[in-house]
Amino acid sequence: MSALILSGKDVSAAVRAEVADRVAALDQKGRSVGLATVLVGDDAASKIYVRNKHRAAEAAGMLSFDKQLPGTASQADVEALIAELNADERVDGMIVQLPLPDGLDGEAAVETVDPRKDADGLHPFNLGRLVLSRSGPLPATPGGIMRILNHYGIETSGRTAVIVGRSFLVGRPLALLLGEKGVDTTVVQAHSRTPDLAGVCREADILVTAVGRPKMFDERFVKPGATVIDVGINRTDDGLVGDVDFDAVVGVAGAITPVPGGVGPMTIATLLANTVALAEAKNN
Ligand code: NAP
Repeated sequence: MSALILSGKDVSAAVRAEVADRVAALDQKGRSVGLATVLVGDDAASKIYVRNKHRAAEAAGMLSFDKQLPGTASQADVEALIAELNADERVDGMIVQLPLPDGLDGEAAVETVDPRKDADGLHPFNLGRLVLSRSGPLPATPGGIMRILNHYGIETSGRTAVIVGRSFLVGRPLALLLGEKGVDTTVVQAHSRTPDLAGVCREADILVTAVGRPKMFDERFVKPGATVIDVGINRTDDGLVGDVDFDAVVGVAGAITPVPGGVGPMTIATLLANTVALAEAKNN
């Protein structure tokens, strides 16, 4: 049997439509909603991600501010631009496109974003609130994964989730969200030092791969019927592929996100949802 395809494309369209309604409601009160991006250098993939974020923001009726600095910019230049956007009344949400070029400290730059404008949910203040189960902008990729699980009614309570990857962008905050009261998965966080990774992954009812290695996870890693969430985005000669060998796994898994069209669109939708929520909070 073939797995249910968890379409981030479809779910994100629904989220974006809801965001557009909320933006329109603010607009009627004379309040625009603005998203700013900070892109440093000319990494081709980052440029595509930023362009997609602007298109989505504009389609939702938001103002979008595309700020770019050359790869030669200093840490002080980046932080000065962030300070300018912190002070700009038209900007409700901001993202610093990571990674920054070598020699710059992306995490330090994110720390200078006003937490009330933290559209990516990656400021230590908001990550701290996440640890405390307090409301706030969710890190965009983990937040998007939770929405897709929720949308398709994937059972989480009492299930085992194995997350491969422990970055502050994806793996760590996702472990917190999946372990929240009410979500109630038992979370295993795996990484490059995990012995018998295939055996650990085969214990997963929900397997999340956030590694960045093309097609690393084949059927040997997947328990029959498991839900597989492929976060990886890898550019290869065959185009964009995930961390999961989709063709090998689709006959074993119960449900699976494709690449492209899975987690990627959900990340953007969550970014927009965070931005409109930040604008609403500012207004109230
Ligand atoms: P990252 O910071 O490089 O982290 C990669 C993680 O994978 C690390 O925890 C690392 O373990 C682990 N790892 C590396 N090789 C491994 C191996 N052989 N076995 C087991 N674990 C291994 O990457 P990231 O920022 O989290 O991104 C991960 C992937 O997701 C990338 O492909 C990225 O492009 C993609 N991504 C997609 C979206 C989206 O919207 N779809 C958003 C963000 C990221 P150690 O900690 O032990 O080094």
